[in-house]
Order: sequence, then C-alpha cells, then structure tokens
Amino acid sequence: MTALSGKVQTVLGLVEPSQLGRTMTHEHLTMTFECCYFPPAPGDKMIAEAPIEMKNLHWLRQNPYSCHENLLLWQETDAVREELLCYRRAGGGTIVENTTTGIARNLPVLRQLAKDTDVHIIAGAGYYVDVTHSEETRKSTVEKLTDIIVSEVLHGADGTDIRCGVIGEIGTSWPITESERKVLRATAHAQTQLGCPVIIHPGRNPAAPAEVVRILQEAGGDISKTVMSHLDRTIFDHGELLEFAKMGSYLEYDLFGTEMLNYPYNMEVDMPSDSQRVQTLAFLVKEGYEDRIVIAHDIHTKNRLTKYGGHGYSHILKNIVPKMLSRGISQNQVDKILIENPKHWLTFK
Ligand SMILES: [Zn+2]
Repeated sequence: MTALSGKVQTVLGLVEPSQLGRTMTHEHLTMTFECCYFPPAPGDKMIAEAPIEMKNLHWLRQNPYSCHENLLLWQETDAVREELLCYRRAGGGTIVENTTTGIARNLPVLRQLAKDTDVHIIAGAGYYVDVTHSEETRKSTVEKLTDIIVSEVLHGADGTDIRCGVIGEIGTSWPITESERKVLRATAHAQTQLGCPVIIHPGRNPAAPAEVVRILQEAGGDISKTVMSHLDRTIFDHGELLEFAKMGSYLEYDLFGTEMLNYPYNMEVDMPSDSQRVQTLAFLVKEGYEDRIVIAHDIHTKNRLTKYGGHGYSHILKNIVPKMLSRGISQNQVDKILIENPKHWLTFK
C-alpha cells in the first residue's frame, strides 16, 4: 500500500478512478519515431522527401515510416490540442500517453495539453525498445533501473515534478535483447513496490507476448495489472490467441485506424482492417474475455492526425463503437472495454 492506493495518477495529480470516463489506453501526443525510420523503395525517394500534401496521402498511409517528417509527431502540439478538444466533445475522458524514455517523452507538454483540454492524461515511465536505450541504460543494473522507474512514478521524470501513472510502454524486440530483459525485470520489481499498471510493446512475433509475460512473472510482476499492446499485428491464429489470453493480461487492440498493405517491420504480417479488428473483439467477447479487452489507436505519426487526412483520436468513439454494436457486442460490453477495464487497470493497488 502506498499513498497512491485506490487512485489514478494523471499528469495533473491524483484523481478518483470514477472520473476517468472513456479511455484510450495507448496513444501518443508528443513523440519522435525516428528510431524506426524505414528507407523508402528506390523509386519512392522523391515522394518520401517531398512536403506532405494531398496528392501524397495515399502513398504516406501505405509507407508512413519512410517519410522522415511524418515521424516527428512532437511538431504538432497545436493540432493535437485541437484533436483532444474533439475527443472530449465526442465523449472521451482519458488518454494514456505511452511515450517512454528513448522516443522523446515531453511531460511539460502533456501537462499543458491536459490543462488546455480537460482530458485526463496519464504519462508512462520506463524505456522503449533496445535501439533507443542509451549506453547508461545498457550498463545499469536491474536495481538501478528499478529505482529510476519507481522515482518517475513517485517523484516525477525527466527532471520535472510531473509523475507517471503507468509503467510503459515498455519496449521489447524479437528476439528480446539482454538490455530489454533487464528493463522487464525492473518493471516487475517496480510494479511490486508500487502496485501500479504496466503496459508492454511486444516484438513482432506470435511468441513474443507470452515470452514477455513469462519474464515478468518470474520477476514477480502482476500480470492481471499488465496490458499487452499491439495484439492486432502480433497474434493472428485464434487458437494461439486464446492460449495467450489464458495467461491473464489485458488484451489490447490498439492500431484502430491503421490499414496498410505491407507492414515494413514484418513483411509476414497481413495488417488487419478495422472490420477485422472488430471481428476479433467480438470473438474474444464471445469467448468470455470482455473484462480483459482494451482498445486504442496508438497514434504515433503525423499522417494519423486529422490535420493530415488521418482518423484522429476520436475514430474509435465515432466510428468503431457503432460498428462494435452492430457486430454482436452489447452496449454494456462496449462500456467495459472503454470505461471499466481501463479504470480497473489504471487504479493503483
Ligand atoms: Zn505506442
């Protein structure tokens, strides 16, 4: 038990869990994704370097990681503020902002956005994938990393007094690297001390989510308070999905709005459409997992913003919820996915 027990920690301080309302559990409001730049095909160099404009939008949606400018979401704070006001008007209450160390977390900007928009914003502690780890992080012991993560939650991060309310997204690759294993153990140890929510970015392999859960379990982590992100690009076989679901984490479908033919980080993957994502949610609900599902858009590039012809942060509330209701998911189940499950996850033990 800590002073945080029974509360949710936003960038503006502690709130009662009942205040959160509809919650997107995996978004970014300011970050850079330069770590994951993917060079364009030889014939696409011109379009990749051209300014973003209407005639390039189809190419950009298909190749979002091959345009350097598209990766700089941190440049769009004014557009993001507008979109958060839209999200509020659409009935949104809370956003979990998963930007961690390595992809340019900016807590003062998050605090200002929360003040300007009245959306509850919850910031993330810890580290993204290995390629973004500093030499210092790589050399740190599990104990040292644990202390840093705990301090980011209890005292504030990046030299500010702004406190994180979740650990993650904790980045892992496939195969999981040594440095990432250390961060996972530190995450579990910090979670044991704090009773806090954890959220994981798994590597792009169907075996990755279960391997992460095993590492967390061995280190004493609380899997029932852990979200596994990005299942929509990771586990495709329904049998394998149910096997993973039995391990007890929250199951997150968080790439709503992303429809692309070729997924450059794993060309084996057929990225699902939003309709297919809804079908998978309906399947999981039918199998009895309505208390374990959370959803989001994971906006991390400019082209996902409405300013650039994208779907924005309100897409789920405006378009996906009606689709869910028309595909056998009840209003009560939608409310669990958008309100109750995030609330339980985000409340400190
Ligand atoms: Zn993310």
